[in-house]
Amino acid sequence: ELEVALKVVIVGDGGVGKSSMIQRYCRGTFTRDYKKTIGVDFLERQIEIDGEDVRLMLWDTAGQEEFDAITKAYYRGAHACVLAFSTTDRDSFLALHSWKLKVENECGEIPTIIVQNKIDLMDQCVVGPDEAELVARALGCRLMRASVKEDVNVGAVFRALAARCLAD
Ligand code: GDP
Ligand code: MG
Repeated sequence: ELEVALKVVIVGDGGVGKSSMIQRYCRGTFTRDYKKTIGVDFLERQIEIDGEDVRLMLWDTAGQEEFDAITKAYYRGAHACVLAFSTTDRDSFLALHSWKLKVENECGEIPTIIVQNKIDLMDQCVVGPDEAELVARALGCRLMRASVKEDVNVGAVFRALAARCLAD
């Protein structure tokens, strides 16, 4: 039986929790000061979707997003995308559109889920629930809310993306 391997790129402004999300999903850990590169291009995790083995390769940007210096190699061959923003960072929410365009320019239309991270900090929320839904609809993406810190919905995001890819 053939194993499916999916490359997933995680994009969004610096500080929204992309590296933490990858680390949480692939290693099961969370640290407050996770900022250095993971030392490799991606971490991976194997899951099963409807009886099919799927190998997810989650690509980290290693901080280049802050210099707008993400290379084509990062996007090359990506099958799916997580567009992440933070509950406490309005600029990261406003940047979703431009991140979507960057991915589209390099990869075309690929299954993409918008993730509102850090919902454990809802008391500091700077993005209204309705406007998040509106932007997701305008960009043609599903919106999911997550807390990498509290391990809420992280697995669900990647399962949903993998399922979408298998259905295509
Ligand atoms: P990146 O720049 O997008 O890769 O973001 P990082 O993964 O480096 O995370 C930036 C900071 O946000 C770190 O201090 C993380 O510990 C923190 N962080 C990540 N996810 C969450 C979350 O769900 N809740 C809270 N409260 N902090 C988070
Ligand atoms: Mg990072």
